[in-house]
Amino acid sequence: MARRPVPPRCALVLLLLSGALAALLGPRPLSAQMTKPDVAAWLDARQGRLTEVAMRIWELAEVGYMETESSALLAGELEAHGFRVTRGVAGIPTAFVAEYGSGKPVIGVLGEFDALPGINQDRVPTRSPIDGKQAGHACGHNLFGTASSAAAMAAAEWLERTGHPGTIRFYGTPAEEGGSGKVYMVRAGLFDDVDVVISWHAGDRNDASPGSNLAVKSAMFRFDGVSAHAAAAPDRGRSALDGVEALDFMANLMREHVPQETRIHYVITEGGSAPNVIPDHAEVYYYVRHPESETVRSIFDRLVKAAEGAAAGTGTTMTYEVVGGAYSRLPVVALQEVVHENLQAVGGVLYDAEERAFAEALKKSLPPQPPLETAAEIQPFEWERTYASSDAGDVSWTVPTGTLSTATWVPGTAAHSWQAVAADGVSIGAKGMMVAAKTLAFTAVDLFSDPSRVAAIQAEFRERRGPDFRYEPLLGDRDPPLDYRASVIR
Ligand SMILES: [Zn+2]
Repeated sequence: MARRPVPPRCALVLLLLSGALAALLGPRPLSAQMTKPDVAAWLDARQGRLTEVAMRIWELAEVGYMETESSALLAGELEAHGFRVTRGVAGIPTAFVAEYGSGKPVIGVLGEFDALPGINQDRVPTRSPIDGKQAGHACGHNLFGTASSAAAMAAAEWLERTGHPGTIRFYGTPAEEGGSGKVYMVRAGLFDDVDVVISWHAGDRNDASPGSNLAVKSAMFRFDGVSAHAAAAPDRGRSALDGVEALDFMANLMREHVPQETRIHYVITEGGSAPNVIPDHAEVYYYVRHPESETVRSIFDRLVKAAEGAAAGTGTTMTYEVVGGAYSRLPVVALQEVVHENLQAVGGVLYDAEERAFAEALKKSLPPQPPLETAAEIQPFEWERTYASSDAGDVSWTVPTGTLSTATWVPGTAAHSWQAVAADGVSIGAKGMMVAAKTLAFTAVDLFSDPSRVAAIQAEFRERRGPDFRYEPLLGDRDPPLDYRASVIR
């Protein structure tokens, strides 16, 4: 509906009135300002509750698409802080969006909370699995979701106190570990109106360098054959496991004929249960990775050909199901600069005596480099590639996406290790989480305060993405594999 134009005389009166009002009130009173130290203090005051939330998610250790309680916990915390929460987005029960404020810019914050199957560890610095526990937070996603939600809440507080226009939006993104949760959220258009996205990841160092990682495509290859007595009637059987082994053999030969930096890895998820029964069903789970998404697509197609050949040669049949796929990360240097400045302002992780003792004990199981002191340092700003993948890659090709890692783990710890689970469950992890929360909150404040920085970030993003880019998810048009972890967690 068109608004009636304001007659000129009324406009003048309004102008005079608003001027008089402004003169009467003077500049915005100090209480309406919120500096970065205020933002940090606001977060510090909530460290107790944030740690409780992170440790509860650590205990739950829910795996991809099954993070019911972890997702509900984070959504509830945001709702209690006045966020408008939409649950079950993109056809995923544990995905949600929580929003505060209104208008532009829209700043998004990513938060993960899924655990990894097959690894768990108690909160101690020596190897000590917890009996009966089938999953663990070996990638620090208990801290990831919590720190990001904390940063969103702090940014909301800043918007509220300063009266600044803008929207802060937290994305509760499930199933990062192999489930490609964010890809379905991108595909559903949930990022279409976002100006900048910020994110982070647990790590063994504090680093906001620009860089990239690997694109990935994964699939289950399933072979079906004919069962028979393996000794009395082998000629009547056709082994589905032979199909898997033939595929694996060809894939291993293929390694010699793929571009540099390709990674191919697999696990046999089903291979029969008794040597004297020829298995009539077998399954192998593959990942293909490379820095370029298009290279991943072409190597994956060759793998499918190998699987077809394996079936033909073993007298079995083969079907495959693409499980996940993600682009490599598209970096934006102008955005990483903002994150890096803020990480420097926040500073690294300082251990107290008890944490130092824990770290020293844990360090005995790790390589000597880097030394423990690096947890307190900020890494230099330089280009780097990580040889891993993340579904945040697809977000980064849709919206300029900034990220950092903080030292939630004892220096020298690898992701997906028991040492990571241990640190994620104690105060060392919680301290790294606070560094991330503050850095992200400061970054959001900068982005809300300075439209020229947002414009520069978006210009660089468009240039790097190129004019001809068309987003085509590597996982195609499949639905979220909501049960991809069901067979792992029994
Ligand atoms: Zn992770």
